[in-house]
Amino acid sequence: MTASERREHLVEVYREASGCVKCPLASTRTNVVFGSGSADADLMFVGEAPGAEEDRQGLPFVGRAGGLLTELLAGIGLQRQDVFIANVLKCRPPGNRDPQPSEIETCEPYLMRQIELIEPRVIATLGNFATRLLTGSRSGITRLRGTPQVHRIAGRTLFVMPLLHPAAALRTPALVEALREDFAKLPELLEQPSPEPLEVRPAEEKLVGVVEDPASQLDLFG
Ligand code: URA
Repeated sequence: MTASERREHLVEVYREASGCVKCPLASTRTNVVFGSGSADADLMFVGEAPGAEEDRQGLPFVGRAGGLLTELLAGIGLQRQDVFIANVLKCRPPGNRDPQPSEIETCEPYLMRQIELIEPRVIATLGNFATRLLTGSRSGITRLRGTPQVHRIAGRTLFVMPLLHPAAALRTPALVEALREDFAKLPELLEQPSPEPLEVRPAEEKLVGVVEDPASQLDLFG
């Protein structure tokens, strides 16, 4: 797929997601926070769920945690528009409570469709929820952080780099250094040849959402 085809298809998924009423979060959100960045990115970040500021602006990681994410990206020579930033949930859970299993399951097809279209080489999962969803691991992020894994996701074999959530690092300043160390491993991982394809086990293939609407252009994806 060319970069512009990816972008077009992603905008279609955006249009579908922005009217989503598949779970009760639709009634409390201000905006769907689909994700932003480059539809052609090699590196994709997946966080947990929008917070208050993200819900207000309709953009991911634009609050305090987002400030740290932007700074960490700059530390490895990247800008937000070089990567794609998304979340497990596209709508804010009231009061920033944890995502519920049923919400994660309902929202998952949007994330899978994003991954399928963007075809990142590396997905950096921010915190426990994204890491658990994309790696299937039950271990906590403190144990998994900083060591790349290989997974088959949305039909492709790719690297997953589990990282601490920037909001957790802001609560415990010593963790900012750990997060910075792990970020420093990303450029080398991006240079690696793609991992050998993992065997396809049809039962494990993730289903993806169905795109319905034709799209008009929106300024979210470069
Ligand atoms: N925390 C997240 O997990 N995602 C956001 O978009 C903002 C804060």
